[in-house]
Amino acid sequence: MPIRVRTDVPFGNAALTEVREDAKCPEVAFTADPHGGPEACWFCFRIELAGARPERLRLVLKHAGNLLGAGHIPHIRPVVRIDDSAGGEEGGWQRLQPGEPVQAPDGQIHAVWELPAPARTLDVAVCYPYGPQEVAQLLTDCGGYWRADDFGVSQSGRPMVRLSNDYGSADPQAARKPGAYLLARQHSGETSAGWVLDGVMRRLAEIRADDVTVWCVPLANVDGVVQGDYGKDNFPYDLNRAWGRPPMRHETLALQRDIGRWRGRCVPRLGGDFHAPGLSEHTGTYTFAVKPENLNDARLREQTHWLGAFRSALGEYAAPDFLRVARYTSRWETPTATGYFNSFEDMYGVTFEVSYVGYSGGEVFTRARYRDAGRRIADAMLLELRRTPKK
Ligand SMILES: [Zn+2]
Repeated sequence: MPIRVRTDVPFGNAALTEVREDAKCPEVAFTADPHGGPEACWFCFRIELAGARPERLRLVLKHAGNLLGAGHIPHIRPVVRIDDSAGGEEGGWQRLQPGEPVQAPDGQIHAVWELPAPARTLDVAVCYPYGPQEVAQLLTDCGGYWRADDFGVSQSGRPMVRLSNDYGSADPQAARKPGAYLLARQHSGETSAGWVLDGVMRRLAEIRADDVTVWCVPLANVDGVVQGDYGKDNFPYDLNRAWGRPPMRHETLALQRDIGRWRGRCVPRLGGDFHAPGLSEHTGTYTFAVKPENLNDARLREQTHWLGAFRSALGEYAAPDFLRVARYTSRWETPTATGYFNSFEDMYGVTFEVSYVGYSGGEVFTRARYRDAGRRIADAMLLELRRTPKK
């Protein structure tokens, strides 16, 4: 029975899949499918052994150097799930060891892993998958603390879902609570960011933070999430570059309207947008700060305050150069979500970048550690929100 590679799995993505049969150590080659975008990075697929009983299995990530930010092969560490195991906080997923760079005769570099062969199936993904099912699990586990409402549709007509702990009050005479608006997955393949936000949400539910108004969109580019797109710089318009007035994507239009609703029902204090960097970035979590030259003294103090609070709360999960300023060449120079948040004088917008791989001292991120990082962000956020006088 031949070994098969399947991409008809949740968030499925793989291209150029090729199986080289071998009784002892068959080889499965693949690469990430750009799904029409200029960048590729997300992959996710299932290998079915269908009766083959090899001792070991070789995975070959072809064209590794073409994946976004994949400059250092040993820092690429995908996750695998053996024989559909589902147990524990990790859901059966585990990290592969560092990849081995192997040079092809023409000079191309592939990343190679060899591992003990599973009995039936091996699920492979660039990082722990996170989608609608995980959001549903979050809602269940939080026992009704979060309410889910759709507030619009994606460009393919899927519901855009926002979680909230409190609708606040539109009555200008009512006492309003300090508020935060959080989102992740504008770049749909950035699941590391999704797990950290999951941790934020679990922590807020755990301590039943009822004196703040938190709204959260965990799957901003829901089409990309479901379709297994990487989604960074994707056409027709990168979701996180579509935040002009007027916005250039329907998702962004719906988000801007929802942020307007939230702003009218709380004392807006913080906007947070969660992302992942290039594939071989391995120093943990960091932020892209607003360029100091673009801030007045009061806004610069506010930024220093917020980012200092997050950095110290994150501890070992924070990169040594936690406070970065984006100076890379962007395909799209148009406005981002964080820029949109920061266009309001009464709130601060922060971008978190969360490594797909690991953090200080060569430690790897597990789902539990991503959630722990989120827990710490939630604690720091609450402390700061509670310092805000109610209006
Ligand atoms: Zn991103």
